[in-house]
Amino acid sequence: MSDTMVVTDLDRTLIYSNSAMDVRVPDADAPTLVTAEFHEGKPLSFLTLAAAQLIWRLPADVLVPATTRTVKQYRRISLPRPPGRYAVTSNGGTILIDGRPDIRWTAQVRRDIAAAADGAEILGRLMPLTEQGWVRSVRSADELFYYLVCERADGYPDGFIDELAEWCAAREWRISVQGRKVYTLPVHLKKSAAVQRVRELAGTCRLLAAGDGALDADVLEMADAAIRPRHGELWEQGWQHPGVTLTDSSGILAGEEMVRWYAAELGVS
Ligand SMILES: [Mg+2]
Repeated sequence: MSDTMVVTDLDRTLIYSNSAMDVRVPDADAPTLVTAEFHEGKPLSFLTLAAAQLIWRLPADVLVPATTRTVKQYRRISLPRPPGRYAVTSNGGTILIDGRPDIRWTAQVRRDIAAAADGAEILGRLMPLTEQGWVRSVRSADELFYYLVCERADGYPDGFIDELAEWCAAREWRISVQGRKVYTLPVHLKKSAAVQRVRELAGTCRLLAAGDGALDADVLEMADAAIRPRHGELWEQGWQHPGVTLTDSSGILAGEEMVRWYAAELGVS
């Protein structure tokens, strides 16, 4: 493995759905896109052709995806070039090594989050919400954490997010809002813990990182250098940290800008 590792979030960082791509240029100047994910036969996530071409030029094993997606959701993604040996999924709950879950890590995570409230208690709070019109469903991510899928990204009742955050905090859980999804997770289920484990396994010295959501903040903080886009949860929260650069663009063009940043940091032209 290269002595540098590029840990990248996927959704709204490297790949973009139709609703997230937010192309703010005249139609005639819009970028050519490459499909990165199909779901039930339909194209779902994309990156720009320029970003895809640049990923081809990065060292073969340098990219380490770090996503809140479950293993099953992660496996739908096909990047222009397969990433290296390692991937972090389930918000740090799973480490994939050569595509297979590291079961020792999975056991370690279960121990680390044992002190937090039981998932049954969280579900007891979330399930009744499905009777309200604005919640489409409640989903389990491998019984590690749970999330609401809402009808609309701006469809939460006033005060709901703050109230749920407070309720979760009292139980050593936390929340993250990403578009139509409201995630609830044990506080100790963190991408950074899994990234640290991968760093030890790979013997990597230098860590570069990118991410847009609150669940990426701990990875951005631990990196030697990092970048975040001008959109997403951290942007909306006005989050800042020394050593974390902000893109000039937003939407899928920010995705391309972040790949350019990886390339520049790695000395790839
Ligand atoms: Mg994201």
